[in-house]
Amino acid sequence: MAGCSLLIRNGLVLVDGGDPHRPQQAEILVKDGVIAAIGDQAVVGAAAIPGITEIDAGGKLVSPGFINAHYHSHDTLAKGLMEQKPLETWRLLALPPQYPKRSREEIKARTLLGALECLRSGMTTVQDMVTLYPFDEEHLDAVLEAYDEIGLRAVVALQYADIKGINTIPFWKEVFPKELHGQLSTAAEPDARIDQLAYFEDTFLKKPCQFERITWALGPSAPERCTSDLIARTVALSETYDLPIFTHIYESKGMALQARMEYPEHGGSLIRRLDEEGLLGPRLNLAHSVWLQDAEIELLGETGTNVVINPLSNMKLKSGIPPILELQRAGVSLALGCDNCSCSDAQNIFQAMKLFGLMVHISDDQDQTPQAEAAFDAATTGGAHAVNRDADLGRIKVGARGDLVLFDLTDPSYVPLNSAVRQIVYTEGGRGVDTVIVDGRVVIDDGELKTMDQAKLLEQIMAVVPQFREDYAQIEKRVDKLQPYLDEAHRRIWAADVGGNRLFTGH
Ligand SMILES: [Zn+2]
Repeated sequence: MAGCSLLIRNGLVLVDGGDPHRPQQAEILVKDGVIAAIGDQAVVGAAAIPGITEIDAGGKLVSPGFINAHYHSHDTLAKGLMEQKPLETWRLLALPPQYPKRSREEIKARTLLGALECLRSGMTTVQDMVTLYPFDEEHLDAVLEAYDEIGLRAVVALQYADIKGINTIPFWKEVFPKELHGQLSTAAEPDARIDQLAYFEDTFLKKPCQFERITWALGPSAPERCTSDLIARTVALSETYDLPIFTHIYESKGMALQARMEYPEHGGSLIRRLDEEGLLGPRLNLAHSVWLQDAEIELLGETGTNVVINPLSNMKLKSGIPPILELQRAGVSLALGCDNCSCSDAQNIFQAMKLFGLMVHISDDQDQTPQAEAAFDAATTGGAHAVNRDADLGRIKVGARGDLVLFDLTDPSYVPLNSAVRQIVYTEGGRGVDTVIVDGRVVIDDGELKTMDQAKLLEQIMAVVPQFREDYAQIEKRVDKLQPYLDEAHRRIWAADVGGNRLFTGH
């Protein structure tokens, strides 16, 4: 359906360029999904639309919808299943190449589940870097259908690679006996049966998208998992179709060490490699970026390359604390992501914003720059920039899409209202999210899903859980046997020097 029209009255509005601490009351007119007027003109404009829906936002705070700029829908059923697993072990427990082929029903149900959680957390856009392994066209269709039906805006990228995982992680080849090598994989593995990029281009990029709120991105899994040829194809597609690119960089110490060992000709730097290959620039988004070096940060600033910070998974997987202050000082545009459910547990933008601010607080003993606005911007305008939608997402302004969140100001989080932006970032946990609007369409109203029957949706999800649990139990047993080798590789990684340390170890 086309975007909707509605008039939102009496709310305190975090309007673009306004005071983020003490927002003023304003009316907002959304016409055919686009913000057409703000203030008195909104009421005048609404009068010309007979039968327009009105929302009384008295006692509510109106914010731009949040953008989850790094997320994978492929493991939403795995929340709460693990902890204290370092990244390399987690890969074997959580990521699709480890699992038997999923059913179409499971793919759709898990995508809907993740989308529901995003919406309930006030997110109106998600960047889904989804791994479908083994690739099946029907599975991609199920993902797209799910976003379309639930009404969440999605920027969909397939995650792809053409180098086997075992060749990209330090010490795995030496440490594991040869007969176990076949059991090792990472986020995306080469799929010889189909050229995913060619399929993606032919099926989706070359024609207008049939789904109104879905746009596309490219998802090379990580540079060390992609040959220069695959990077070159990514650059060409991005230029031809003006597509944002999302990739993982330096998430863990192991990934930094791999770069030092694998790319001596680029000074051990993946950023320098990508610079030479023409990938750096405003269309590129580097998820994580925990183990960046100073010269690399400078290069990101110079080239206008963006970073997506993922505080939840970086802490949970023992990856470390990203250099947020240094990135800010270099002028790098920052977005925010909640990453996988298996390693963040929650698609909760408030947890991510709060940790963003708090991680900065413990990163520098002298710095006193407030971070609430920076965290909020990362979750709104920074996300819009990441998905190449500066013009119409992430802000409440005339011409932007009607993607909005209404917070209940009677929730204890906002009593008393001292600073809207600080209380959204540091006090809100998701409880105050009352109404979520995407394209002028009310998707969540008073905490209830409006676009689908939520009870039926939960039934649909629970129907696929037994198979998932059965498969997970098998995988857990297999990983148990691999654990001594994983631990040995992990010890060797942590004994190595990559120049700097991003994990707090008490010394
Ligand atoms: Zn990721």
